[in-house]
Amino acid sequence: MLARVLEFFNIGVIILLANKNAPTKYIYYTLSLTVFSVLFFIVAIFVKGSALLLSLFITILAFVVATFLAVKAIKSPFMDIDIPEGSRCLVCSSFIKKVEGVTALHVENRFLFFDSEEHLRRFLQNFEEYVKIRRLNLVVDDIKGAYKLDNEKWKSLDVSRIIETQTNNLKSLE
Ligand SMILES: [Zn+2]
Repeated sequence: MLARVLEFFNIGVIILLANKNAPTKYIYYTLSLTVFSVLFFIVAIFVKGSALLLSLFITILAFVVATFLAVKAIKSPFMDIDIPEGSRCLVCSSFIKKVEGVTALHVENRFLFFDSEEHLRRFLQNFEEYVKIRRLNLVVDDIKGAYKLDNEKWKSLDVSRIIETQTNNLKSLE
């Protein structure tokens, strides 16, 4: 019974990882482990005896590994961000390629791209202005995070201070 609960938990982890945009290898590992523990359980039902105990052990192991992977995947700032063809920097309009130093701003359910960290910061510092110029349907609250391509990985950029300043500016205008 406990084993079945743990398997449901593993399936939950898979869904969570998929939602969090986690690297597919984590999802793949958790999925393989879950499938393996379920298959082993089915075999164990027929074999009975110590096989059932071993099945429980494998399920618990799968649960521990899945939890570990979930924590790792969520904590890791690494995400896979797809740069759509023809994306341009919102500040200088240059075409965005997947090269070192390119930055992405996560807003609501999409990404905005910039050819450099400097342009991302400039965009944030003059947020209202750029939103108007680029006719974006955006508010400061939509910003979920910022990322920079560093060593072929998307690393989290701390832009909280700029966003805070923007929010305070807006409040003072009201
Ligand atoms: Zn630019």
